[in-house]
Amino acid sequence: MNDAETGAASGLPEELDPLHITREQFNRARAHLEGFKRGLIEFFEVPKRTISVCFPVEMEDGSVRTFHGYRVLHSRVLGPGKGGIRYHPELTRREVAALAALMTWKCAIVKVPFGGAKGGVVCDPKDLTETDLRRITRRFITELGDNIGPHIDIPAPDLYTNEQTMAWIYDTYDILHAGGNNRPVVTGKPLDLGGSVGRREATGYGAFLVTERFLELAPPPGFGGLKGARVAIQGYGQVGVAAAEAFRAAGAKIIALGDSQGAILEEEGLDLEAVAAQKREHGTLVGLPESRTLTNEDLLALDCDILIPAALGNQIHSDNAGAVQAKLIVEAANAPVTPAADDILSARGITVLPDILVNAGGVTVSYFEWVQNIENEEWDLEEVNRRLRQRLRRGVDAVVECWQEIKGGATLPLDNHQEPAAESGAAETPRVERRPDLRTAALVVAVRRVARATLKRGIWP
Ligand code: NAD
Repeated sequence: MNDAETGAASGLPEELDPLHITREQFNRARAHLEGFKRGLIEFFEVPKRTISVCFPVEMEDGSVRTFHGYRVLHSRVLGPGKGGIRYHPELTRREVAALAALMTWKCAIVKVPFGGAKGGVVCDPKDLTETDLRRITRRFITELGDNIGPHIDIPAPDLYTNEQTMAWIYDTYDILHAGGNNRPVVTGKPLDLGGSVGRREATGYGAFLVTERFLELAPPPGFGGLKGARVAIQGYGQVGVAAAEAFRAAGAKIIALGDSQGAILEEEGLDLEAVAAQKREHGTLVGLPESRTLTNEDLLALDCDILIPAALGNQIHSDNAGAVQAKLIVEAANAPVTPAADDILSARGITVLPDILVNAGGVTVSYFEWVQNIENEEWDLEEVNRRLRQRLRRGVDAVVECWQEIKGGATLPLDNHQEPAAESGAAETPRVERRPDLRTAALVVAVRRVARATLKRGIWP
């Protein structure tokens, strides 16, 4: 992808640039797929649409500030765009574009009929009042206009946005589009506005369901099972909290948790109720009585069975992957492990369960919310979780099956009924040089599904 399409380079070292990373991961998967029609690959490498907006907001203190926001739609092949909106001071257009592509692959793995999208506003919610956040949200959604919609592109929560943000998004869109059922325009809404039970916990709980199924199919050597497993989690937000609760309910010990201020450790297992009270009262986990304080860097290097990054991207990279001691990394956050780190971890025998599989529970229950809104139905938690479990387990099964195939050196045909590569003018299949990992397998599953759908639809005209 070139900068004219995605914005100026971020200035990060090359291997930490989000688009560089997604392209590298994509190329690793491509090496195991043959039979692409010439040029089709470029269609998957660039976003379908990138919107960049600047807008003024009158702040609660009376000043006026200008904000930058983005919404990137990567693909509409499988359905309308779907993806979170994040508020973060370091947000870039390249990061949003990279995350939008991940959403396309994520939806394909769990067979949710959406394409990938992502958006956000460059701002630091910690420095903003609730009134400021409401005004920023309303103005951003107004700027996006008809580029979002129940059958066009459907936002959801992400980093530092929540149910309240989604309620403002719904309200703004509904005021601008009176006269229809606008509830399906956004997911992750409060229950009072058509949100789904189970949505708040879906990503963290889904990370557990994916791990549980993976351990049934292909446990890493020497892994003793979930009961008694020692788990460390970076991030104590929507995802980290629900993951901690789900793993604990299965008998695992949550020995460490971290937030943006630092991390806490209790070898015998943290008391999650005391942790929640500490966060509520002090705004951080750090300082929990009888726990040891660590840095987030220390947390990533803890001796544990499962390490769950559930905060930001690029947390495990070439400089610290050698220090990781976990047997299994469960990527609940988006893009927490870089390709260079993937190689180091793989060489050290550490398994990484990839983000596009692990955190797909969020978009799956978002899809359930969208269906309930369209049908004016309300499912109970049992129903939501039964359907979630089924979809995620099928996703894991497909990825593990593909992993076994490509580990054996197979390159997989794109389509059983495709023209032979030579006749279709297929691009030369890149040579496979590394032992394929689960991320590569997950991408192969996803790209194959989207590619098949693209070719079945036919390239317009
Ligand atoms: P959140 O805003 O609720 O929580 C983020 C957490 O990360 C907070 O505990 C925060 O303190 C912590 N954090 C921030 N900066 C940190 C730092 N420098 N070091 C350590 N911790 C830090 O966000 P969330 O919704 O829980 O999302 C977490 C991750 O999961 C993100 O990568 C997001 O893209 C991904 N994700 C979320 C969902 C969802 O449904 N919410 C779905 C898919 C993927």
